[in-house]
Amino acid sequence: MNARAHQLKVREVISETADAVSLIFDIPTDLTPRFSYSPGQYLTLRVPSDRTTSVARCYSLSSSPHCDDRPAVTVKRTPGGYASNWLCDNVSPGDVLTVLEPAGNFIPRTWTNDLLLCAAGSGITPIISILKSALTLGRANVVLLYANRDRASVIFAPQLHQLLRRHPRRLTVTHWLESDRGLPTSRAIATWARPYRRHDVYLCGPAGFASTVKQGLNQLRVPDRAIHQEQYRSLTDNPFEHHTPVTTPAETPPAGAATVRVDIDGETHTLPWPRTEKLLDVLLAHGIDAPYVCHESACATCVCAVKHGRTRMLQNESLIEEELAQGLTLACQTLPESDDVHIAFDQ
Ligand SMILES: Cc1cc2nc3c(=O)[nH]c(=O)nc-3n(C[C@H](O)[C@H](O)[C@H](O)COP(=O)(O)OP(=O)(O)OC[C@H]3O[C@@H](n4cnc5c(N)ncnc54)[C@H](O)[C@@H]3O)c2cc1C
Repeated sequence: MNARAHQLKVREVISETADAVSLIFDIPTDLTPRFSYSPGQYLTLRVPSDRTTSVARCYSLSSSPHCDDRPAVTVKRTPGGYASNWLCDNVSPGDVLTVLEPAGNFIPRTWTNDLLLCAAGSGITPIISILKSALTLGRANVVLLYANRDRASVIFAPQLHQLLRRHPRRLTVTHWLESDRGLPTSRAIATWARPYRRHDVYLCGPAGFASTVKQGLNQLRVPDRAIHQEQYRSLTDNPFEHHTPVTTPAETPPAGAATVRVDIDGETHTLPWPRTEKLLDVLLAHGIDAPYVCHESACATCVCAVKHGRTRMLQNESLIEEELAQGLTLACQTLPESDDVHIAFDQ
């Protein structure tokens, strides 16, 4: 079993709408440090299955570490989906689920800038965590565009109403209901967003919504590389059923291997890094408990910083240009370019 997987008791199940539930977890004292999280991060839940033993699915934390006592995720049924329906139908208070430690990179690095938050449907989950945190921690203004099919499908409507009453000057919420106005167009987004075009943008929703919002913001000269986006999808890999190491290290490293120094979990390891092996695989092969979920560059769980040396990524579905400029990389896709590389996790 993955060393970052833990048994958590579900304390409460809240029915948010007809097809969405929030699961609130109890965190035992000894696991508190491991389950500390940042707004915008997610948990990965193990969902049992007769067919495949289990599936792994990511769910963004809808709670805020800055205003909620316990972590919560919010699951919306995907029509025809397996895990989301299983979770909505089967989980009761007192049940124990296997959960990976918080992960993800969809995290505001500062609370001083004004925020433009765009969400559709269940995409509200990480967005509401960021929104609550920004209102609690900073003084910045927060603008939310929240698209839904109709009034009944608006998750967190009462919470948002309360927050608006508490922060009337700092929080602006625009609900976009498809039942009233049809789907948003890029032109309408551009008109609506013009006053907020210099805000930091965080976006989460289905692909069609996300590309409309991006096109609208592009019309206001906000480039894609400045838009932080969380993309939902189901994992094809299953980190709960993997038994690391994925590969075993060669007894003698191949000639020409680079050398990598890795800071992780308060320890430093120095290892040979064969030129064609991805950093994550090298770490796992040496029994180092590096964080990962998808192995496909999509989840950003294995994000780390290149402190020295040069590397390249084979694929990148998660990091935006600003993050690449800060030297961040995804261990699951990273190969060495220079002879000596220094990598740090835990940024
Ligand atoms: C970073 C991140 C954050 C996310 N946050 C949220 C969130 O906050 N809220 C939210 O609702 N969603 C969130 N998601 C999406 C979520 O992880 C799932 O993708 C979503 O719930 C759909 O999963 P599903 O299994 O219901 O549907 P699908 O993945 O569409 O289910 C179908 C799949 O399940 C397989 N399957 C069907 N039956 C079985 C069976 N019996 N056993 C095994 N496999 C079977 C099929 O082969 C098929 O591959 C997030 C995703 C990511 C990556």
